[in-house]
Amino acid sequence: MPKINTIGVLTSGGDAPGMNAAIRAVVRTAKYYDMRVMGIRKGYEGLLHGDIFEMSARDVSDIMHRGGTVLQTARSKEFKHIDGVRRAVSTARYFGIEGIVVIGGDGSFRGAKDLCGEGMPAIGIPGTIDNDIACSEYTIGFDTAINTAKDAVDKIRDTATSHERCNIIKVMGRASGNLALNVGIATGSEAVLIPEVEFDFDRDILQPISMGKKRGKKHFIIILAEGVKNVDDLDKRIEAETGIESRTTILGYVQRGGSPTAVDRVYASQMGAYAVELLKEGTGNRIVGVKQGRVYDIDIVEGLDVPYVVQEDLITLAKMLSI
Ligand code: ADP
Repeated sequence: MPKINTIGVLTSGGDAPGMNAAIRAVVRTAKYYDMRVMGIRKGYEGLLHGDIFEMSARDVSDIMHRGGTVLQTARSKEFKHIDGVRRAVSTARYFGIEGIVVIGGDGSFRGAKDLCGEGMPAIGIPGTIDNDIACSEYTIGFDTAINTAKDAVDKIRDTATSHERCNIIKVMGRASGNLALNVGIATGSEAVLIPEVEFDFDRDILQPISMGKKRGKKHFIIILAEGVKNVDDLDKRIEAETGIESRTTILGYVQRGGSPTAVDRVYASQMGAYAVELLKEGTGNRIVGVKQGRVYDIDIVEGLDVPYVVQEDLITLAKMLSI
């Protein structure tokens, strides 16, 4: 394939801490190789409507430590249709863009695949706090989100102990339990409820609480992944069945913000640079990810087809350590 000299970069879908570090790496690597970089604002919306500007190495100064994304992000309905994709490709060409780096989640990668289908080389970089992209062991933002949730749960635990309460803490993750599972292990919670394991009130809630009570536990922390179904009024149910006062805290968007951890900054820097190196050689239609701890790339169609599995050993570990 012919080499590429002008690239575009956008962030799309849900934002994640560390996206700025990835943008910085894309821009600086491109500049290192004397390539042109066009920043595209608000994801595919900006690509469709020409919200595009040339970026210099200095445009990404002092952004590494900031959460969110300086390019902003959006969800574009128009882009989901082939006419929208074609329009986006012609806008990109008008601005001289020959290849695009898409930083986002699973949905954004499906959009990137469509760009490739219309002849615009694209590279996906996984950026989502959910860590739910099966072809990559890691997604940018995951470590920061775990740490944010861990800090919140540690605080809730203090008051839970004082009052001998049960606290249910709802964490993000969409259909994936990865974030909840890691938060559960990092905070030593009594139970972790994830969508990948069918919920059973007696087994998952009543048994751990009654065993904990017998052992003299003074608090009961339950981490609830947002994707778990049929858990409405869980606190009321627990209170009715056990007599233990129960409260629910929904962590919500706090998990999506904040200064990225070093882990997120380093992965984002590596993946951003790797994506540009692929495009520089004329290679598109790839997802950059992490496999066995190393940054690698995989065909975008193949990557999207990798089946998602939650780490069974972590489920076992969370249970084992909660006694
Ligand atoms: P994320 O990338 O975080 O998973 P979304 O699922 O909201 O976020 O997707 C972000 C954007 O990517 C959407 O607004 C849309 O423009 C595009 N997109 C999502 N799903 C698809 C799809 N199946 N085909 C084409 N484009 C898609």
